[in-house]
Amino acid sequence: MNSSNKTSPSHPRLSSDINHWDIDTDVAIIGFGGAGACAAIEAADAGAKVDLFELASASGGSTALSSAEIYMGGNGGTAVQQACGYSDDTENMLSYLRACFGNQADEAKLRSYCENSLNHYQWLTGLGVPFKMSELKERAIMALTDDCLLYTGNEKAYPFPEAAQPIPRGHNLEIEGDNGGPLLMKILTEAVADRGVNVHYESRALTLIIDDNQEVVGVVVRVDQEEINVRARRGVILCAGGFCMNEEMVRKYAPTFDCGLTPIGNPGDTGSGILMGQGVGAATVNMHECFVSLPYYPPSSLTYGILINDKGQRFINEDCYHGRVGYNTLLEQRNSKRIYLVTDVAGYGDYEKMSYLGAQVAGTGDTIEELEGELELPAGSLDYTLSSYNRHAAEGQDPSYHKSAEWLRPIEAPYVALDCTLGRGPFYPFFTLGGLDSLPTGEVLNTGGEVIAGLYAAGRTTAGIPRTASGYASGMSVGDATYFGRLAGQTAAKRDC
Ligand SMILES: Cc1cc2nc3c(=O)[nH]c(=O)nc-3n(C[C@H](O)[C@H](O)[C@H](O)COP(=O)(O)OP(=O)(O)OC[C@H]3O[C@@H](n4cnc5c(N)ncnc54)[C@H](O)[C@@H]3O)c2cc1C
Repeated sequence: MNSSNKTSPSHPRLSSDINHWDIDTDVAIIGFGGAGACAAIEAADAGAKVDLFELASASGGSTALSSAEIYMGGNGGTAVQQACGYSDDTENMLSYLRACFGNQADEAKLRSYCENSLNHYQWLTGLGVPFKMSELKERAIMALTDDCLLYTGNEKAYPFPEAAQPIPRGHNLEIEGDNGGPLLMKILTEAVADRGVNVHYESRALTLIIDDNQEVVGVVVRVDQEEINVRARRGVILCAGGFCMNEEMVRKYAPTFDCGLTPIGNPGDTGSGILMGQGVGAATVNMHECFVSLPYYPPSSLTYGILINDKGQRFINEDCYHGRVGYNTLLEQRNSKRIYLVTDVAGYGDYEKMSYLGAQVAGTGDTIEELEGELELPAGSLDYTLSSYNRHAAEGQDPSYHKSAEWLRPIEAPYVALDCTLGRGPFYPFFTLGGLDSLPTGEVLNTGGEVIAGLYAAGRTTAGIPRTASGYASGMSVGDATYFGRLAGQTAAKRDC
């Protein structure tokens, strides 16, 4: 079919207007990243005929660009956690995640995720995803060794130890360098191929097809400049990623993050899955939230430093996860003209050899006064902050922000300050955390909270486990996309048709 009218995601096509189906399948999946791959594997394993449509010329999406750290635990612990001497508890994992996201958390998704996390680990390893029985003990954003287990969130940082016992749950694939994402997607892509899924590359889903009862019965896909009608008898699963590459949507839905941050993701992160869902009445949730980061470590030695605003005041415990620091800096210090990371020579360490931050040195000083002058801070402000910080740090205390003793030591002359102000050099990456409202099963809900028959979604097209950068831990997104992708595939494959 060659339509002269522009097909738009917000205008679903009516099946009554269709006189020819180009493809007839059980389950149509949109997007071949982590969520789409796992949905396809499960739907095929459940006996469904599956057609998978991907706009790029290869599988991968943002999942392949990622480090593919995967957040898993509970249930006594994964084999890796156990081998590394940790016994994880499901309720402890749940308590931690609740503390991370507060009222924004989706309790049903959290529970499903935590209770089945060990099963998910075993499912992944069953497909051949390799995890080494080892722990990376250093504070890192990602493991550059092939070690597996690491703390990837705020588990050990105040106030989280008050809510849950700290346990590392980030699982890094057994591969050297930052290559987890490509390896994960290679394994998932092979598993999809092994199951005889019909994969259509360079095929962009444009809009959903609904029948007279408003049920989703298919999807319109553009292939080779032609629009084809795909009938999906059991349902359509939207796994098309988030919307960080769609400036208009970010401005509209997440304006706080429309401030010069760097979107990270694949070019297909344009929100098309969310728009298609909205086109058939789906509700969205958490659209105003994004992951954002100030990646000031490595080197981990910078954690001994202090972050200050333009009044020379600290505002956070610097041992938090980089996403929590980025969020806090962006939101709570929004009116501060400058953000500095103040450290000493030992803390500066290997910054010039190994860093993702990109911040310039804003000032140095043999005395606090000298540094204060170079940074144009109010007279005496940094002196007050640093004197107090150092006095307490010498005793292993941080009464103001409760940085853990592990990262406390007096900052000593000569001093150096890095300019972490947004727009003055440092890297502030972001991607979106809002999307379609869905059940753990992948069923998409309308604005009345009812299931839209025939429509499923997973991954960053939905609002899943991670709800804010403040509570985020690396691994929650790939973990969520792969786990809930599986459930969506299982549910769609079982639907009566
Ligand atoms: C650099 C980087 C590092 C990261 N590291 C981690 C990490 O270590 N751990 C973690 O948990 N998270 C990490 N993340 C986040 C995580 O990778 C993503 O949130 C997650 O992988 C999203 O998975 P997904 O399946 O929802 O989407 P994707 O993997 O992006 O897949 C979506 C697919 O849909 C396709 N698509 C979009 N629109 C259409 C359409 N209309 N028709 C057809 N196809 C379409 C896209 O081309 C894409 O292939 C990282 C992200 C980045 C960018």
